Order: sequence, then structure tokens, then C-alpha cells
Amino acid sequence: MPRSNRPRRRTAAPGKHAAPEELDLDRTRLGVPTRESAPDGEWAVRSITARNAAKTYTCPGCHREVPPGIAHLVVWAEDNIFGADAGLRERRHWHTNCWRTRTFRYR
Ligand SMILES: [Zn+2]
Repeated sequence: MPRSNRPRRRTAAPGKHAAPEELDLDRTRLGVPTRESAPDGEWAVRSITARNAAKTYTCPGCHREVPPGIAHLVVWAEDNIFGADAGLRERRHWHTNCWRTRTFRYR
């Protein structure tokens, strides 16, 4: 049986970047955190859009609620002594303004 010599461009290379699609979607939805260096540590800061703010949180800056539907920031320590995962687990939701004007004494 002779083999076909036709190039099979259409079906070639299923892709080296066969990363799970869910991860990409997740990254797109959540956004990439910004890294901030401050006197109180290294922080990852991510913006939560009004649309993605679905729960009520307590802002560690002013101890008032961050209600659903309000764009705010989620912040976690990049230099947590127990590792990045621990820092992420202890992430806090801040009013944008409270984070920007914090006194570094909320701990
Ligand atoms: Zn606040």
C-alpha cells in the first residue's frame, strides 16, 4: 500500500503549548497580580472589578465592609515565611484607597 505524499499541514503539530485551557481562562478572568514593594513587605496586588466582586469582605485598613459590586483590591504577601501558598491563603480584600493610604500598622 503506497503512502500518500501529500503534506498534511492542516493536521500538523497539535501544539507544544498544550497547557490546560482552564488555567489560561483562569488567568484571564482573574488578571495578573502586580508586585509591590513596601516598608511592610513584598505584596502581590490584584484588582477585583465590580463585576467580579461577589462577596462581602472586611477591609483590614478601616475594618469596614467591602460590599459586593465594589471594585477593590485583593492583596497577599509574597514574602510569607510559610511560603507563597500560605501568603495566598491569607489574602485580604482592601478598599483601593485604604490600601494606597495604609499606615503599615494594621498588623
Ligand atoms: Zn477600607
